[in-house]
Amino acid sequence: MKRSSSTDRVLPVTSVDSGHVEEIAPGIYCYTIQIVNAYFINNLEHPTQWILVDAGMPASGDKILEKAEELFGAEHQLQEIILTHGHFDHIGGIIDILEKHQVPVYVHPLEMPFLRGEQDYPTPDSTVEGGAVAKMSVVFPVEAIDISECLRPLPQDKSVPLMPGWRWIHTPGHSPGHVSLFREEDRLLLAGDAFVTLKQDSLYKVLTQKQELHGPPVYLTTDWEASQESVRTLAELRPKIAGTGHGKPMSGTDLPHELARLASNFAELAVPDHGKFVQE
Ligand SMILES: [Zn+2]
Ligand SMILES: [Zn+2]
Repeated sequence: MKRSSSTDRVLPVTSVDSGHVEEIAPGIYCYTIQIVNAYFINNLEHPTQWILVDAGMPASGDKILEKAEELFGAEHQLQEIILTHGHFDHIGGIIDILEKHQVPVYVHPLEMPFLRGEQDYPTPDSTVEGGAVAKMSVVFPVEAIDISECLRPLPQDKSVPLMPGWRWIHTPGHSPGHVSLFREEDRLLLAGDAFVTLKQDSLYKVLTQKQELHGPPVYLTTDWEASQESVRTLAELRPKIAGTGHGKPMSGTDLPHELARLASNFAELAVPDHGKFVQE
Protein backbone atom coordinates (compact mmCIF):
# COMPACT_ATOMS: atom_id res chain seq x y z
CA MET A 1 0.00 0.00 0.00
CA LYS A 2 1.25 3.44 -0.80
CA ARG A 3 0.40 6.40 1.37
CA SER A 4 0.32 10.00 0.21
CA SER A 5 -0.52 13.29 1.84
CA SER A 6 -4.11 12.39 0.91
CA THR A 7 -4.15 10.18 3.96
CA ASP A 8 -1.48 11.48 6.30
CA ARG A 9 -1.78 15.16 6.94
CA VAL A 10 -4.35 16.42 9.44
CA LEU A 11 -6.07 19.40 7.86
CA PRO A 12 -6.94 22.35 10.11
CA VAL A 13 -10.62 22.49 9.37
CA THR A 14 -13.47 21.20 11.46
CA SER A 15 -17.14 21.69 12.24
CA VAL A 16 -19.27 21.93 15.38
CA ASP A 17 -20.54 18.43 14.61
CA SER A 18 -17.14 16.78 14.43
CA GLY A 19 -17.18 13.54 16.46
CA HIS A 20 -20.97 13.38 16.39
CA VAL A 21 -22.74 10.10 15.59
CA GLU A 22 -26.34 9.95 14.44
CA GLU A 23 -28.34 6.78 13.79
CA ILE A 24 -30.26 7.60 10.61
CA ALA A 25 -32.06 4.24 10.33
CA PRO A 26 -31.81 1.08 12.48
CA GLY A 27 -28.13 0.10 12.49
CA ILE A 28 -27.05 2.85 10.10
CA TYR A 29 -24.85 5.51 11.63
CA CYS A 30 -23.54 8.78 10.27
CA TYR A 31 -20.21 9.72 11.87
CA THR A 32 -18.98 13.25 11.30
CA ILE A 33 -15.20 13.61 11.13
CA GLN A 34 -14.17 17.26 10.99
CA ILE A 35 -16.11 18.31 7.88
CA VAL A 36 -17.00 14.97 6.28
CA ASN A 37 -19.33 12.07 7.07
CA ALA A 38 -18.54 8.37 7.07
CA TYR A 39 -21.36 5.82 7.38
CA PHE A 40 -21.32 2.65 9.47
CA ILE A 41 -23.72 -0.11 8.45
CA ASN A 42 -24.33 -2.63 11.17
CA ASN A 43 -25.53 -6.14 10.38
CA LEU A 44 -28.56 -6.35 12.68
CA GLU A 45 -28.51 -10.16 12.64
CA HIS A 46 -24.83 -10.27 13.59
CA PRO A 47 -24.36 -7.11 15.65
CA THR A 48 -20.56 -7.28 15.72
CA GLN A 49 -20.35 -7.15 11.91
CA TRP A 50 -20.26 -3.83 10.13
CA ILE A 51 -19.48 -2.18 6.82
CA LEU A 52 -17.87 1.21 6.34
CA VAL A 53 -19.03 3.59 3.61
CA ASP A 54 -16.31 6.20 2.98
CA ALA A 55 -13.26 6.57 5.18
CA GLY A 56 -13.08 10.13 6.45
CA MET A 57 -10.56 12.94 6.55
CA PRO A 58 -6.79 12.38 6.43
CA ALA A 59 -5.42 10.70 9.57
CA SER A 60 -8.87 9.71 10.87
CA GLY A 61 -8.53 5.90 10.65
CA ASP A 62 -8.03 5.36 14.38
CA LYS A 63 -10.97 7.57 15.25
CA ILE A 64 -13.19 5.56 12.92
CA LEU A 65 -12.11 2.28 14.50
CA GLU A 66 -12.52 3.64 18.03
CA LYS A 67 -16.04 4.72 17.16
CA ALA A 68 -16.78 1.27 15.70
CA GLU A 69 -15.59 -0.31 18.94
CA GLU A 70 -17.85 1.97 20.93
CA LEU A 71 -20.84 1.07 18.73
CA PHE A 72 -20.26 -2.63 17.99
CA GLY A 73 -17.99 -3.74 20.81
CA ALA A 74 -14.32 -4.72 21.09
CA GLU A 75 -15.02 -7.86 19.04
CA HIS A 76 -16.35 -5.83 16.13
CA GLN A 77 -15.58 -7.21 12.69
CA LEU A 78 -15.23 -4.85 9.76
CA GLN A 79 -16.35 -6.78 6.68
CA GLU A 80 -15.72 -4.44 3.79
CA ILE A 81 -15.39 -0.81 2.79
CA ILE A 82 -17.40 0.86 0.06
CA LEU A 83 -16.23 4.17 -1.36
CA THR A 84 -18.64 6.60 -2.99
CA HIS A 85 -15.52 8.10 -4.59
CA GLY A 86 -11.83 8.54 -3.86
CA HIS A 87 -11.41 12.20 -2.89
CA PHE A 88 -9.01 12.81 0.01
CA ASP A 89 -11.83 13.52 2.47
CA HIS A 90 -13.47 10.14 1.78
CA ILE A 91 -10.34 7.94 1.89
CA GLY A 92 -8.30 9.74 4.55
CA GLY A 93 -8.44 6.96 7.16
CA ILE A 94 -8.42 4.01 4.78
CA ILE A 95 -4.77 2.91 4.89
CA ASP A 96 -4.66 2.90 8.69
CA ILE A 97 -7.88 0.88 8.71
CA LEU A 98 -6.67 -1.60 6.07
CA GLU A 99 -3.44 -2.15 7.97
CA LYS A 100 -5.53 -3.44 10.88
CA HIS A 101 -8.39 -5.05 8.93
CA GLN A 102 -7.57 -6.59 5.55
CA VAL A 103 -10.99 -6.22 3.92
CA PRO A 104 -12.07 -5.68 0.33
CA VAL A 105 -12.70 -2.11 -0.79
CA TYR A 106 -15.43 -1.81 -3.41
CA VAL A 107 -15.47 1.09 -5.86
CA HIS A 108 -16.70 1.90 -9.35
CA PRO A 109 -14.10 0.85 -11.97
CA LEU A 110 -13.76 4.47 -13.16
CA GLU A 111 -12.53 5.50 -9.71
CA MET A 112 -9.84 2.83 -9.59
CA PRO A 113 -6.93 4.70 -11.25
CA PHE A 114 -7.00 7.19 -8.34
CA LEU A 115 -6.76 4.35 -5.84
CA ARG A 116 -4.10 2.31 -7.60
CA GLY A 117 -1.57 5.14 -7.61
CA GLU A 118 -2.02 5.61 -11.37
CA GLN A 119 -3.72 8.96 -11.62
CA ASP A 120 -4.07 12.04 -9.39
CA TYR A 121 -7.30 13.99 -9.21
CA PRO A 122 -7.22 17.39 -10.91
CA THR A 123 -6.06 20.11 -8.51
CA PRO A 124 -9.04 21.77 -6.82
CA ASP A 125 -10.27 24.94 -8.41
CA SER A 126 -9.40 27.46 -5.72
CA THR A 127 -10.45 30.36 -7.98
CA VAL A 128 -14.04 29.19 -8.17
CA GLU A 129 -16.48 31.60 -6.56
CA GLY A 130 -17.69 30.16 -3.30
CA GLY A 131 -15.67 31.63 -0.51
CA ALA A 132 -13.22 30.45 2.08
CA VAL A 133 -13.30 26.66 1.68
CA ALA A 134 -12.80 26.96 -2.08
CA LYS A 135 -9.84 29.29 -1.40
CA MET A 136 -8.46 26.88 1.16
CA SER A 137 -8.84 23.98 -1.27
CA VAL A 138 -5.33 24.69 -2.64
CA VAL A 139 -4.03 22.74 0.36
CA PHE A 140 -6.37 19.78 -0.25
CA PRO A 141 -4.34 16.74 -1.32
CA VAL A 142 -5.07 15.18 -4.71
CA GLU A 143 -2.27 12.60 -4.99
CA ALA A 144 -3.38 9.06 -5.69
CA ILE A 145 -2.95 6.45 -2.99
CA ASP A 146 -2.34 2.81 -3.82
CA ILE A 147 -4.59 0.22 -2.18
CA SER A 148 -4.67 -2.12 -5.22
CA GLU A 149 -4.41 -5.30 -3.13
CA CYS A 150 -7.76 -4.59 -1.50
CA LEU A 151 -9.54 -2.87 -4.38
CA ARG A 152 -12.52 -4.64 -6.03
CA PRO A 153 -15.02 -3.42 -8.63
CA LEU A 154 -18.64 -3.10 -7.53
CA PRO A 155 -20.66 -5.96 -9.09
CA GLN A 156 -22.02 -5.26 -12.56
CA ASP A 157 -25.53 -6.30 -11.54
CA LYS A 158 -25.66 -3.17 -9.30
CA SER A 159 -25.94 -5.22 -6.12
CA VAL A 160 -23.84 -4.24 -3.12
CA PRO A 161 -21.80 -7.11 -1.61
CA LEU A 162 -23.03 -8.13 1.87
CA MET A 163 -25.75 -5.47 1.76
CA PRO A 164 -28.93 -7.25 0.66
CA GLY A 165 -31.69 -4.90 -0.49
CA TRP A 166 -29.22 -2.21 -1.52
CA ARG A 167 -28.08 -1.22 -4.98
CA TRP A 168 -25.41 1.12 -6.20
CA ILE A 169 -26.08 3.84 -8.75
CA HIS A 170 -23.41 5.44 -10.91
CA THR A 171 -23.67 9.18 -10.19
CA PRO A 172 -20.68 10.77 -11.98
CA GLY A 173 -19.89 14.46 -12.31
CA HIS A 174 -18.30 15.27 -8.97
CA SER A 175 -15.81 12.52 -9.89
CA PRO A 176 -15.85 10.03 -12.79
CA GLY A 177 -16.67 6.89 -10.80
CA HIS A 178 -18.83 8.44 -8.09
CA VAL A 179 -21.58 6.12 -6.83
CA SER A 180 -24.55 6.48 -4.52
CA LEU A 181 -26.16 3.65 -2.52
CA PHE A 182 -29.91 3.18 -2.29
CA ARG A 183 -32.16 0.86 -0.30
CA GLU A 184 -35.65 0.60 -1.79
CA GLU A 185 -37.31 -0.77 1.38
CA ASP A 186 -37.04 2.46 3.36
CA ARG A 187 -35.91 4.70 0.45
CA LEU A 188 -32.64 5.38 2.19
CA LEU A 189 -30.01 7.06 0.05
CA LEU A 190 -26.31 7.44 0.77
CA ALA A 191 -25.39 10.07 -1.80
CA GLY A 192 -21.70 10.75 -1.19
CA ASP A 193 -20.93 14.13 -2.76
CA ALA A 194 -23.46 13.85 -5.64
CA PHE A 195 -25.31 16.51 -3.66
CA VAL A 196 -24.75 17.71 -0.11
CA THR A 197 -26.88 19.16 2.67
CA LEU A 198 -24.76 22.20 3.36
CA LYS A 199 -23.03 24.75 1.24
CA GLN A 200 -19.59 23.20 1.48
CA ASP A 201 -17.97 26.21 -0.11
CA SER A 202 -18.90 28.59 2.66
CA LEU A 203 -16.57 28.23 5.63
CA TYR A 204 -19.20 29.60 7.99
CA LYS A 205 -21.75 26.99 6.94
CA VAL A 206 -19.17 24.20 7.07
CA LEU A 207 -18.27 25.15 10.64
CA THR A 208 -21.88 25.40 11.80
CA GLN A 209 -23.23 22.61 9.51
CA LYS A 210 -26.39 24.55 8.63
CA GLN A 211 -28.74 22.23 6.77
CA GLU A 212 -29.73 23.02 3.17
CA LEU A 213 -29.70 21.08 -0.06
CA HIS A 214 -26.90 21.94 -2.49
CA GLY A 215 -25.08 20.63 -5.50
CA PRO A 216 -21.70 18.91 -5.08
CA PRO A 217 -18.75 20.80 -3.53
CA VAL A 218 -17.72 23.12 -6.36
CA TYR A 219 -13.92 23.20 -6.10
CA LEU A 220 -13.55 19.48 -6.89
CA THR A 221 -16.45 18.95 -9.29
CA THR A 222 -15.14 18.51 -12.83
CA ASP A 223 -18.19 17.68 -14.97
CA TRP A 224 -21.25 19.78 -14.25
CA GLU A 225 -23.46 18.28 -16.95
CA ALA A 226 -22.95 14.75 -15.64
CA SER A 227 -23.45 16.07 -12.14
CA GLN A 228 -26.86 17.52 -13.03
CA GLU A 229 -27.88 14.25 -14.66
CA SER A 230 -26.85 12.40 -11.50
CA VAL A 231 -28.92 14.68 -9.25
CA ARG A 232 -31.86 14.11 -11.61
CA THR A 233 -31.43 10.34 -11.31
CA LEU A 234 -31.32 10.56 -7.51
CA ALA A 235 -34.36 12.87 -7.39
CA GLU A 236 -36.34 10.27 -9.35
CA LEU A 237 -35.71 7.77 -6.54
CA ARG A 238 -37.72 10.04 -4.22
CA PRO A 239 -35.56 9.20 -1.19
CA LYS A 240 -37.05 9.50 2.30
CA ILE A 241 -33.70 9.79 4.07
CA ALA A 242 -30.48 11.06 2.54
CA GLY A 243 -27.05 10.74 4.10
CA THR A 244 -24.55 12.88 2.21
CA GLY A 245 -20.80 13.24 2.38
CA HIS A 246 -21.08 16.68 3.92
CA GLY A 247 -23.79 18.19 6.11
CA LYS A 248 -26.38 16.60 8.35
CA PRO A 249 -28.45 13.70 7.05
CA MET A 250 -31.82 14.91 5.84
CA SER A 251 -35.27 13.31 5.93
CA GLY A 252 -38.89 14.26 5.57
CA THR A 253 -41.42 15.04 2.91
CA ASP A 254 -39.45 18.09 1.77
CA LEU A 255 -36.52 16.00 0.64
CA PRO A 256 -37.80 14.62 -2.73
CA HIS A 257 -39.27 18.02 -3.46
CA GLU A 258 -36.05 19.89 -2.63
CA LEU A 259 -34.03 17.40 -4.65
CA ALA A 260 -36.30 17.77 -7.68
CA ARG A 261 -35.98 21.55 -7.33
CA LEU A 262 -32.19 21.27 -7.25
CA ALA A 263 -32.23 19.01 -10.32
CA SER A 264 -34.41 21.33 -12.38
CA ASN A 265 -32.65 24.54 -11.33
CA PHE A 266 -29.19 23.06 -11.30
CA ALA A 267 -27.45 25.73 -13.39
CA GLU A 268 -28.70 28.43 -11.08
CA LEU A 269 -28.47 26.63 -7.73
CA ALA A 270 -25.37 24.45 -8.13
CA VAL A 271 -23.09 25.42 -10.99
CA PRO A 272 -20.69 28.25 -10.14
CA ASP A 273 -20.67 31.27 -12.46
CA HIS A 274 -17.05 30.80 -13.32
CA GLY A 275 -14.19 28.42 -12.61
CA LYS A 276 -11.78 26.19 -14.43
CA PHE A 277 -14.22 23.26 -14.67
CA VAL A 278 -17.15 25.45 -15.79
CA GLN A 279 -17.95 26.02 -19.45
CA GLU A 280 -18.77 29.72 -19.78
ZN1 LIG B 1 -15.67 14.67 -3.16
ZN1 LIG C 1 -16.31 15.24 0.01
